[in-house]
Amino acid sequence: MTSHELRERFETALMPTYGTPPIALSHGEGRRVWDADGRGYLDLLAGIAVSTLGHGHPALVRAVSEQAATLAHTSNLYVHEPGVRLAERLTSLVRAGATGPTGDIRVFFANSGSEANEAALKLVKRAAGPGRTTIVSTDDGFHGRTSGALALTGKPAIRDPFGPFGLDVRFVAHGDTAALRDAVDDTCAAVFVEPVQGEAGIRPAAPGYLAEVREICDNTGAAFVLDEIQSGVGRTGHWFAHQAEGILPDVLTLAKGLGGGLPLGACLGLGPYASAFAKGDHGSTFGGNPVSCAASLAVLDTIEVEGLLDAAAELGDLLAGEIAAVGHPLVTEVRGAGLWRGVQLSSPAAAAVQSSAAEHGFLVNAVAPDVVRLAPPLTITREEVREFTGALPRILDRAAGEERPA
Ligand SMILES: *Cc1c(COP(=O)(O)O)cnc(C)c1O
Repeated sequence: MTSHELRERFETALMPTYGTPPIALSHGEGRRVWDADGRGYLDLLAGIAVSTLGHGHPALVRAVSEQAATLAHTSNLYVHEPGVRLAERLTSLVRAGATGPTGDIRVFFANSGSEANEAALKLVKRAAGPGRTTIVSTDDGFHGRTSGALALTGKPAIRDPFGPFGLDVRFVAHGDTAALRDAVDDTCAAVFVEPVQGEAGIRPAAPGYLAEVREICDNTGAAFVLDEIQSGVGRTGHWFAHQAEGILPDVLTLAKGLGGGLPLGACLGLGPYASAFAKGDHGSTFGGNPVSCAASLAVLDTIEVEGLLDAAAELGDLLAGEIAAVGHPLVTEVRGAGLWRGVQLSSPAAAAVQSSAAEHGFLVNAVAPDVVRLAPPLTITREEVREFTGALPRILDRAAGEERPA
């Protein structure tokens, strides 16, 4: 079936919430994917920071195939080994990166980022004392599309048509510690923040911001919920972005890269939040499915065995450095850390850059009108980085040309 045919059928069979994506993908290998017409692309997006090991990595294929053949599903009525091992593994990664004692850490598994945040929302409500009903979140932040997660999302255009949500949320600017100090008081159950705002265009706060959030939460008794759904699992060159800041949240949410392409979300509670849920408080039929957990264990093992944290740091710097070295007038800044970068443009040409990149055989994402997001598989090589940056002058020239008024 051709791309054209697939796109036409998509248009009538699927709800129009994504528009009709321009490319129909058919298969992938390593960092390359091919469309339904046989055109190859170097994947610099990894399905929005999800395909941590790229496509068809033997360790992931083996883990998923073996687990699917052994036991694909149990429901939450039964214990299974991949889930127990993964929970232990995640808690030990958080512990290993902590500068001090962490206390108890426990995991709730979900299927997606939104659901990990829904779990976090219920968890902090459960843990909060009476009268603590307000949640503080950030302008332009993104926490998901389900109603609770959407209520916390600081993008009125995607949020407001679906409210009211029955949740009292105060929004403050990300990185503005004075505004946060004003907003958080003893009526607040929690503060939800991303270490770097991903969907807003890979926008980091000033260094020290997370430490200030930690302090404000400590002083007021609000829970610090850190949404590392996009930043976690090696993306920034650390297991989790907060480990570079020397702080620990009370609740940590993960998803995207965690399953390496299999649907998996996790909500980790630390200290008193580890055991704030009582029996019956929350649940999911599919959450922590054995196949997704086996996939995630393969992702974590491979990150370790192949040294992908160091690689992400090193190749991310190479990528950012080479983009800056192109010196194209359309590019004003390259932000972010590791293999998670926002390329700031001087004009709203991100869509033009995305389509020009695709024409040249590269997948990138126009995350904002004037920002291009790069989040390649952590397995990307030096040669592949240079393949992209070598083509970048032509990609940007073409995009700038398209953008110029006729
Ligand atoms: C993607 C994302 C979510 C939502 O995850 P879904 O799996 O799409 O529900 C939540 N928070 C952040 C920071 C994200 O990047």
